[in-house]
Amino acid sequence: MRNFNQAKRIVIKIGSSTLTHESGLLNIRRVEELVKVLADIKNSGRQIVLVSSGAMAVGVGKLGLAGKPGDMPGKQAVAAVGQCELMYTYDKLFSEFNHVTSQILLTRDVVDEPLRKQNVRNVFKRLIEMGTIPIVNENDSVSTEEIEFGDNDTLSAIVSVIAEADLLIVLSDIDGLYEEDPRINPHARLISEVHEITPEIESAAAGAGSNRGTGGMITKIHAAKIANANGVDMVILNGDHPRKLYSLLENEDIGTYFSTKSRQKHTNYK
Ligand code: GLU
Repeated sequence: MRNFNQAKRIVIKIGSSTLTHESGLLNIRRVEELVKVLADIKNSGRQIVLVSSGAMAVGVGKLGLAGKPGDMPGKQAVAAVGQCELMYTYDKLFSEFNHVTSQILLTRDVVDEPLRKQNVRNVFKRLIEMGTIPIVNENDSVSTEEIEFGDNDTLSAIVSVIAEADLLIVLSDIDGLYEEDPRINPHARLISEVHEITPEIESAAAGAGSNRGTGGMITKIHAAKIANANGVDMVILNGDHPRKLYSLLENEDIGTYFSTKSRQKHTNYK
């Protein structure tokens, strides 16, 4: 049974493929709807942290490139352009609803080192107390292979733990986790609730998902493991219509819910 009534602090993750059109340019209607819904959810008394991808995709679109550069400095440069555009857009739209945004850019080394991790924890706490909406991404313009998270699903799970969230909602371009890949078998059934991430669940996730980011279903399952092992519930929800967030928080049976209830805490994956 779902009951998100007490989920006070919520991390919402949105991926590049949900945020942008195939051209790489921002899907303005979707971003506007997302911001409006999040602003309203915050007005209702919940606390919001947004983990947003899209720096690279938006940078590629803004610079008019044919695709992501293959080399590291090129990727970093494109992300530096796109991150500005993303934050400009979020800040402008959230301001319309009287909300203050803040930006946190992370690399893996920051959360691997206890003192620096504590600093991140402190700043999240303070930014939330100040009433801001922290918007988080990987610091792609300085990130290199050794210090990257690799994908924002994992990043969002780590953020949900550090920010001491009650719930992580991963918005995807698919309704949730299916028993089989729905693009291969259109009759595949959506899994509503997962209490334990078994090998069957992991194999159901193999190969599913497609986007302009780096994640797929596998990285979402990995995120669920991190979140759940640390006591954070997680839901994979289709981000095509951000208004679905209302329905989800009203405990409607949509998406796939990875529940920490009736689960023994065992492995810590972080
Ligand atoms: N941090 C990357 C970006 O903003 C996205 C990583 C991902 O798609 O998971 O472009």
